[in-house]
Amino acid sequence: MTTETRPTTGPTARSRQVAALRPGYLADLADGTDRFFEPRRADCPWCGSTALRRRLRTTDLLQHKPGRFGLDACGGCGHVFQNPRLNGAGLEFYYRDFYDGLGEQRLAGLFGTRAAVYRGRARAAAPYASAPGRWLDVGTGHGHFCETARADFPDTVFDGLDLSEGVELAEHSGRLARGFRGSFPELAAGPSSELAGRYDVVSMFHYLEHSTDPGRELAAAREALRPGGLLLIEVPDPRCRYARLLGRWWLPWLQPQHLNLVPAANLSERLGELGFTVLTEQHREPHDPVDLLAACWLLLDAVAPREDAPWLPGAPPGRLRRALRGACFLAGSPVLLLAALLDRLVAPVAGRAGLSNAYRLVARRGA
Ligand SMILES: [Zn+2]
Repeated sequence: MTTETRPTTGPTARSRQVAALRPGYLADLADGTDRFFEPRRADCPWCGSTALRRRLRTTDLLQHKPGRFGLDACGGCGHVFQNPRLNGAGLEFYYRDFYDGLGEQRLAGLFGTRAAVYRGRARAAAPYASAPGRWLDVGTGHGHFCETARADFPDTVFDGLDLSEGVELAEHSGRLARGFRGSFPELAAGPSSELAGRYDVVSMFHYLEHSTDPGRELAAAREALRPGGLLLIEVPDPRCRYARLLGRWWLPWLQPQHLNLVPAANLSERLGELGFTVLTEQHREPHDPVDLLAACWLLLDAVAPREDAPWLPGAPPGRLRRALRGACFLAGSPVLLLAALLDRLVAPVAGRAGLSNAYRLVARRGA
């Protein structure tokens, strides 16, 4: 790769980084985005029914990478899934620079400040496992959940698993005792697996929806748990009323990352088939009160001039475009404030009103 410097209007570290990444992105996009998708499915990946209907059409509202995405809903079981689904090359392309690289610092700042959320998730295990010995957090990212959970479970050894390099950094920095990098179903497969039967708790917080095959992840969790061990799952709820109300501006649709959105009844049923007993199903507790604020922010971001990004062709935005973007957000700030206030007001009744955007299941593995 050549390292010649390009003229940039804002000579910040980020704009230099964007300029360095641009040739690679534009080469990946030279033949369009069709090559990033599997063939379209005619049946539901959860139950096999062919009674599918289009649930949503949208674009990448967070990174603004090119491409169009669709979600289908199954008339048989209510499962919602991306169709056509991203293939391996597509997943690599759309995840690149989101959790790592260019996007890492921004997200680290966001996730680093979510201690209260993490503590709530950890405490969901407490009534059923007061002092677990080993805990595996699947989809742990940079291991921030484990670092926070240790306050409530000081004697527990926390391991993490993730596809991205963040999990290795988390092990090096001591947030995790062990960081496993790779696919959970592959790492947990077979009796000789290092993970097999080793854990008292396996947690999957906002992980299953990213998986190409959630059923295999649940089977892997069964492998990694000892008999009697606990499985904690938290996922977006596709039945949430905000999903219909806000349409494509509902943040938890998170296209193109969310491939499978499983209704709670389907997940409970599958866990039963795998020999788990569901101990509790929570709706109010895991609700993250950001739906209206996020929808307004995404709308403003969509109408404002774009920030520079390596997948966008053309010259980087000049001073005028950047000022215009700032002005859009300034003008929208009263609406953002109002939305944030409404989110707070709704939060206490979100569960009862069907407005909770996530649900949590705690299940115990049978013998
Ligand atoms: Zn189905």
